[in-house]
Amino acid sequence: LIQLSIPLNFLGMIYREIKQALIDIEQMFTVLAQHPEIEDRPGAPALAVADGAVRFEDVRFGYVPGREILRGVSFEVPAGRTVAIVGPSGAGKSTISRLLYRFYEPSSGRITIDGQDIAAVSQASLRAAIGMVPQDTVLFNDTIAYNIRYGRWDATKDQVEAAARLAQIDRIIASLPQGYETPVGERGLKLSGGEKQRVAIARTILKAPPILILDEATSALDSFTEREIQDALERISRGRTTLVIAHRLSTVVNADEILVLDKGRVVERGSHPALIARQGIYAALWSRQRQAEAARETLKQSEAAL
Ligand code: ADP
Ligand code: MG
Repeated sequence: LIQLSIPLNFLGMIYREIKQALIDIEQMFTVLAQHPEIEDRPGAPALAVADGAVRFEDVRFGYVPGREILRGVSFEVPAGRTVAIVGPSGAGKSTISRLLYRFYEPSSGRITIDGQDIAAVSQASLRAAIGMVPQDTVLFNDTIAYNIRYGRWDATKDQVEAAARLAQIDRIIASLPQGYETPVGERGLKLSGGEKQRVAIARTILKAPPILILDEATSALDSFTEREIQDALERISRGRTTLVIAHRLSTVVNADEILVLDKGRVVERGSHPALIARQGIYAALWSRQRQAEAARETLKQSEAAL
């Protein structure tokens, strides 16, 4: 029996090792497939951020040949201002944020920051200037502290904790056995979508970059937590160039400009009141969301009455 159980244990161990290796390889390919390596041009200078004005000039892009996702997108986010992008799912909103972070490059047209083509500057300097809260946050296989500190290694413990508080993740961290030193990610504690999103928000608050990209940054949160974090996000976006992609229109009302994207084209643009007055796609989306919210509210009240 002893003779038999040892090899079985051993096989079990090998099996687990191989399985983990396969998971790692699979993850590596997923990351590579999502972000094929964009290389710096030889001797690419660092981006010199003056005040962080962002411009898209007739940007076209497709992930695969023959299927264009962005069909000539132009807009500007003036320094320190907020531009919101709304539109149906699949319109190309997240693609815009990925191009600005330079996970991909446009097939034609260009993207500039303070007049410099982002394709011509070093990636490291570009990414140092941008804080991104993506739609789906993937955490590093490291501690929660590492994941928050990422992007600003010189932050003090107090600064890390203050950022976690603003992102409403401090109490969850306090309840973990190893607190900030708890390993997270695929090989550690698996956090929920909303918790991962809050870690990404804490990271961005701590990094305090001149340019912010918030891609449905609060979509995985319940509406109460969302409202609380929305305040923190609004505070950090003040005075910073911000591109906000939102599914809930209530969060874009105060944007300086709203772009309505549909099938890779900007089909409407303007301030919230101007777009409402226009009675087009945005106005229709707005009234539909208002009706849905009112219906939910009525349902909640009737449930409470039962
Ligand atoms: P949105 O954020 O507006 O919902 P996306 O920018 O994520 O839309 O996607 C726009 C289109 O690009 C969709 O049709 C989507 O299927 C496609 N797409 C997104 N990512 C990839 C990818 N990595 N490879 C191929 N097609 C993709
Ligand atoms: Mg998206």
